[in-house]
Order: sequence, then structure tokens, then C-alpha cells
Amino acid sequence: MQQEFGIHMKGGVITERNPDLTTIRIRAPAGSLTTDQLRGIATLAKKYGTGEIHCTTRQTIEIPHVNPAYLKTIEARLEKNGTPIGSEKDEIVNIISCPGTERCKYANIDTINLAKRIDEKLFGKVMPVKMRIGISGCPNACTSPMLNEIGVIGRIRPIRTPGLCTGCGFCVYYCKEKAIKIRNGISELNEEKCVQCGMCVKSCWFNLLKSAHSHYLITVGGRRGRHPKIGRELMTVETEDQVIFAINKIIDWVYRRAWSGRLLSEQLDELQFEKFRDEIISKVPKAEPAGPGPAKSL
Ligand code: SF4
Ligand code: SF4
Ligand code: SF4
Repeated sequence: MQQEFGIHMKGGVITERNPDLTTIRIRAPAGSLTTDQLRGIATLAKKYGTGEIHCTTRQTIEIPHVNPAYLKTIEARLEKNGTPIGSEKDEIVNIISCPGTERCKYANIDTINLAKRIDEKLFGKVMPVKMRIGISGCPNACTSPMLNEIGVIGRIRPIRTPGLCTGCGFCVYYCKEKAIKIRNGISELNEEKCVQCGMCVKSCWFNLLKSAHSHYLITVGGRRGRHPKIGRELMTVETEDQVIFAINKIIDWVYRRAWSGRLLSEQLDELQFEKFRDEIISKVPKAEPAGPGPAKSL
């Protein structure tokens, strides 16, 4: 049987420790797959692998121990299954996200829809550096977005309806950051401590806490691995369309300016982070520099 070589260049085709075998990584934005898709993958794993599958840290599935001679056939069948071969090299790799507003009671944004929209536009784009994008629906950051080259976190700025607070203290109880105190019978916010998680907004029985708006914090330059690094806060934007627009601008910038061989986190100082930040913010309508944000009152 003739072996197909071109397909080996795909990022989702990973040569194993035993170089005669290959692991196939599958594209699964937000780690979401239907039961039919899972069945399709299981069938292929049984027929062309050892019947085993592996769940990765980037919310993808892998079929290990595949004979490379069958790659072309498997690729076609995975396409038909709606679960094409994924990516692993210097590319935009699988977009990860937490359940967000689809399932989590703490979420401030629809993470899964956002992950799928980013995937549609950008997945697999060849880059000078590997680009990982991680999304979390709130500052609990269950998917560690700040350890990705680009991170997105859903936040809410709390604002209290003036004059109506009963001083009951529920918001104080629910704020894990100890950012709220009752003073003179009403709640008062310490903006420095507030991480804009929105728990107080959800906790007020009297519905007195509103949010100015839920919004998206975008971070850049994080990484996992042997020298982990927390990403830097870049900007906040208010809509999903703006997030996608901003990420496109970041990707364009990195594509043009970064060079291969080192991760973005290692290059950000040389690439002049401040210049990068100002340039991106100036291109995204209504974007604000990241920071505590104008949580005007509580
Ligand atoms: S990051 Fe927040 S919204 Fe997402 S799963 Fe964790 S707690 Fe829920
Ligand atoms: S939004 Fe701020 S004040 Fe409200 S619970 Fe979260 S950290 Fe505390
Ligand atoms: S803001 Fe709401 S929860 Fe907090 S003290 Fe006032 S009434 Fe109670």
C-alpha cells in the first residue's frame, strides 16, 4: 500500500515515540462534539487504531497508534464526520473554552459560541509562533485563559442603584475578594480589590446591583510548559464581534512582526508590548485599556 506523505505535514498528525505509528489529533472547538461525532471517531479508532482514544488538555480527542498508510482514508472519514484533523504546530490550535452561559451559573459570557466563531475564522492558520486561544466565562478562569497566547475572560462591572441598598450584606458574604463593605447602612465597593466576577450582582436579593455591561478582558502572551507565564492584560471590549475583530488584529500583528523559533511570551518585550497594545486598541472601536475598569459605584 502506498504511503501518503503530504498529510504528515498537518499539525494534527503527530509521529509517536515509535516512529512507525501516528497519533491523529481532532479539531473540536470548545471541546464540543455530538454523540454521533463521538461514535464516528470511536469507529475509526477501532478500525485504524487500537480502539483507544485520548482526551487532551486542549479539549481535543486523539486517535493514537494509527498506521500512517491509512492517513488519507482517515482524513476523509473525519471530514465527513464533521471532526476534521486538528492542529499542533506553529498554527492557531484548538480553541478551548469553559461551558460559559450555556451551563455555568457563574458565567458572564457565551464562551462556546465565541470559541466556535473564532474557530471558524482562524483555526489552523499558519503562524510564525504557535497561537493558543483560551476562553473563560468569568474570572474563575477554569480554562486558564491567561496561560494562552490569547486569553478571553468574561467580566461584569458592578454598579448599585443609588439610594436603595438595605445594607443586608448578602453581596458582602458572596464577594470572595472582600471587595465590598457595609458603611453607613449601604454597600461600598473597593474597586482595587474587585475582579469583576459579577457574584455580587447575582447575589443581591433586591436586584439592586446592576452591571454597567458584561464585557470581555483580552490578555496576550501567556504560556504553559516548562517556563509558564501569565499573559498581560491588553484591553476590554463589550461585544463578541469586537472580540473577534480584536483577535483578528492581534493575529495579523503577530503574523507580520513575530519571528519563528520562540513563543510569543518570549518576544513581547522585544516586540514592544506598549506599542503593540496602543496599536491594537486604536484599531478596535470602543476598546478600552485593561485595568480595574470604571466600576463607578456600588
Ligand atoms: S470560568 Fe467561570 S463561567 Fe467558566 S466554568 Fe469556570 S466558573 Fe463557570
Ligand atoms: S464583582 Fe467585584 S465586588 Fe462583586 S463579587 Fe466580584 S469581586 Fe466582589
Ligand atoms: S447591594 Fe443588595 S445585597 Fe448588597 S447590601 Fe445592598 S441590598 Fe444587600
